[in-house]
Amino acid sequence: SYVGIHSTSFRDFLLKPELLKAITDCGFEHPSEVQQVCIPQAILGTDVLCQAKSGLGKTAVFVLSTLQQIEPVAGECSVLVMCHTRELAFQIRNEYQRFSKYMPEVKTSVFYGGTDIKENEKLLANKETHPHVIVATPGRLNALVREKKLRLGSVQRFVLDECDKMLDQIDMRRDVQEIFRATPTQKQVMMFSATLSQATRPVCKKFMQNPLEIYVDDETKLTLHGLQQFYTKTSESEKNRRLNDILDQLNYNQVIVFVKSTVRATELDRLLRECHFPSVAVHSGVSQEERIKRYTDFKNFIHRVCVSTDVFGRGIDIERINVAINYDMPDATSQQNPGASDKDTLASAADTYLHRVGRAGRFGTKGVAISFISTERDEQVMKAIEARFERKIDEYPEGGKGVSV
Ligand code: ADP
Ligand code: MG
Repeated sequence: SYVGIHSTSFRDFLLKPELLKAITDCGFEHPSEVQQVCIPQAILGTDVLCQAKSGLGKTAVFVLSTLQQIEPVAGECSVLVMCHTRELAFQIRNEYQRFSKYMPEVKTSVFYGGTDIKENEKLLANKETHPHVIVATPGRLNALVREKKLRLGSVQRFVLDECDKMLDQIDMRRDVQEIFRATPTQKQVMMFSATLSQATRPVCKKFMQNPLEIYVDDETKLTLHGLQQFYTKTSESEKNRRLNDILDQLNYNQVIVFVKSTVRATELDRLLRECHFPSVAVHSGVSQEERIKRYTDFKNFIHRVCVSTDVFGRGIDIERINVAINYDMPDATSQQNPGASDKDTLASAADTYLHRVGRAGRFGTKGVAISFISTERDEQVMKAIEARFERKIDEYPEGGKGVSV
């Protein structure tokens, strides 16, 4: 099957009954391949470095295995999970809540920037509200640690989701390292991503002891089977028309449209709404509270189209998204690492592409990805993507003929 589901059941993992009950409530019937490989070892406290393709349930690996092992003590945090964006932190915390439904003694919190730090401090100051599981972005978490509002002396499990992203960005890596040093030496470390380059693996392993290592070394295996991928040639000025046509042609459930800047997200979203598309924009230019509201509204199907920067490029799980559009192709030159070689830059753009299109076709469902090619650079990036994943990406057919979602 697409997701590598075997006939095993979650019961085979010998999980606590309260976890099994929550898993059933979530509608999970069989563990995916990555869950099958990682969970049995992770619940024994083994370190895990895991690369597995988008949408196949990496989150449940660490959520279930940390909840399985947790022994909550009032006023102490024993599980620390970090990721690169605030919405993802929010999403992961919700997963913890979903799966700890029958473990009322377990308290979870989420901390990220753009919110009142005093509120976080208040939670931490009181034994009754102090979380046992913290999901956070590194900047805010480190601020709490530095101000001595949060003590990490009882942390037993340390998880990084989208670990390559977190360790590739210098400032994020610094925060992660500082936080890591504030935790006890003896602990379980787990890291996850769909992309783990040869160069990143040793960096991750520095944090670990004899980890279980799961890699997808055959990069052709990283593309999603349920996802049809296309490109379409267009000039910059024709992009809006093209998008409009495509949205009219495809019978989409929900669409995510990626653009390269906050300004473009705002403008395109406005244009779409003027054309009566139920659109919303999510990017760093709106207040944090509003960002979470828009994320939640989109997840709850209040909007059908979401125009986003790379804020939503990774990790975000919205099951009804069946179309992902690169209105602007990813190109890492516009991002960090000014000293990177062109080869590295193209590799990083291909990573971004893989994560973005992976927002559609989650957990083996069908999806369509369409990339707008308007410059020579876009073409270069597209070629790099085709070479890397050894897959020819077809031209989007005239009128969307034969493309079904
Ligand atoms: P990843 O992090 O690997 O990209 P996620 O953890 O976000 O993937 O999971 C993708 C989707 O699949 C989520 O909506 C999740 O609830 C669902 N999912 C995960 N594991 C299972 C399972 N065993 N059975 C059914 N759905 C699952
Ligand atoms: Mg994920």
